Amino acid sequence: MNNHELWQSVLAELELSISKANFITWFKSTGIISWQDGCVLVCVPNTFNRAWLEKKYHSSIIKSVERITAKPVKKLEYKIDNIKNVMEQGLSSDPMAKPASSETSAAARPISTMATGSNFVLNPKYTFESFVVGRGSELAYAAAQAVVNKPGEAYNPLFIYGGVGLGKTHLIQAIGNQLLKNNPGINIVYASAEKFSNDFISSIKDNTAREIQNRYRHIDLLLIDDIQFIAGKAGTQESFFHTFNELHQQNRQVILTSDRPPKAIPALEDRLKSRFEWGMIADVVAPDFETRVAILQKKCLEKGFSLEEKLVQTIAATVQNNIRELEGALNKIIVYHQLKNIMPSSDSIKALLSSLEASSMRRSLTPHQLVEAVGQFYNLAVDDVLGKSREKKLSFPRQIIMYLLREELKMSYPAIGDELGGRDHTTAMHAHTKILNEIENDLKLKQEIELIKQRLYINNV
Ligand code: ADP
Ligand code: MG
Repeated sequence: MNNHELWQSVLAELELSISKANFITWFKSTGIISWQDGCVLVCVPNTFNRAWLEKKYHSSIIKSVERITAKPVKKLEYKIDNIKNVMEQGLSSDPMAKPASSETSAAARPISTMATGSNFVLNPKYTFESFVVGRGSELAYAAAQAVVNKPGEAYNPLFIYGGVGLGKTHLIQAIGNQLLKNNPGINIVYASAEKFSNDFISSIKDNTAREIQNRYRHIDLLLIDDIQFIAGKAGTQESFFHTFNELHQQNRQVILTSDRPPKAIPALEDRLKSRFEWGMIADVVAPDFETRVAILQKKCLEKGFSLEEKLVQTIAATVQNNIRELEGALNKIIVYHQLKNIMPSSDSIKALLSSLEASSMRRSLTPHQLVEAVGQFYNLAVDDVLGKSREKKLSFPRQIIMYLLREELKMSYPAIGDELGGRDHTTAMHAHTKILNEIENDLKLKQEIELIKQRLYINNV
């Protein structure tokens, strides 16, 4: 086995044990430079990457090499080098080769500090200091920091994705706020993809294309929140494509957030998908219990509200879905106790939490809203989803709807059949069982359904 084959086997093993985003981020542009007498030298693209592999994956890599070679590893070290140099010697590989044009970012130049007026709206409360890093967000947080340290150089674009209320907007704005602090003259634009799209549409209407181009293309840093909104909008995508290219060519940093990875955004042009994957993709997932406790403690401190550890834990154990809900619950608890002028107790907290749960959207969600939400998620018209076509593109979301109507709204199979345009109850039953089984074996589908559920309830508040 040569070094190339060895590294491919190691990667194949590691890929199984970590998330896709992590894998692409940390193992793209790695390889083995040498492997001799139990000493392995691994090629990494930069110091940040090296530090992360050392901290997080060192022992997994060693174990994997030992397993595959059936020989002990005495020493495993990392060397910063361009994978291409290593590849030229035929010793390694780039498992996720990037298009050649992105290589221009290697010769990045620093962000211009020339101010030409700022047209951005950043919320000053979204900072790195106010962000609590947990296991679900450490990758995205570290990536955000790397971008702040080397804008336009480290990872361009940075693509952060994850479900609702998990801190994407907070993080992307924290990057903006920090860069602004470091370079007060810097020209930043922060906009939701919806705003970008609206600007684009009105520029056509009002004949102000040039103005809009100046607004988005002649800047140092572009932050676009919820980029998934440009799905299905051809004109907006075209405009964004040129905006992206222009900025990227000049090594201007672009940062995007989305509720799902580029590949999973429906009706998004391939050339955009591939560009979104050029830099780094980092996911944020729901916080674990410890992180929820830490977030609550930090928010209590910020708001000058004192809450016993035990009570903090009660809240953290109850509100699990996302950080926005966690914050919302805490705010209600604070207001309630301040208005009534009483001390928080286990009873008062539990009563409040259960009333919050009871009033949660779960009850008020209608079957029609659910159908619409799934349609929106897959970027399909409701009529098509409910129609007769057996195309997989339509039949699969249809089955997901049936599954969710059963699971979330506890509807009977005949009622589900009716809701879906008069289908037979056996069709509903079959769809429910099928999806139920598939979720068991398909992590991606499971995550997708989680995402839809989050949207169902959050958009309904
Ligand atoms: P998203 O954009 O992913 O839907 P947001 O960034 O809007 O989520 O976060 C929702 C709320 O939760 C915001 O008020 C944000 O400040 C807070 N929040 C999210 N993540 C964290 C975190 N890790 N630490 C502290 N606050 C957080
Ligand atoms: Mg957001």
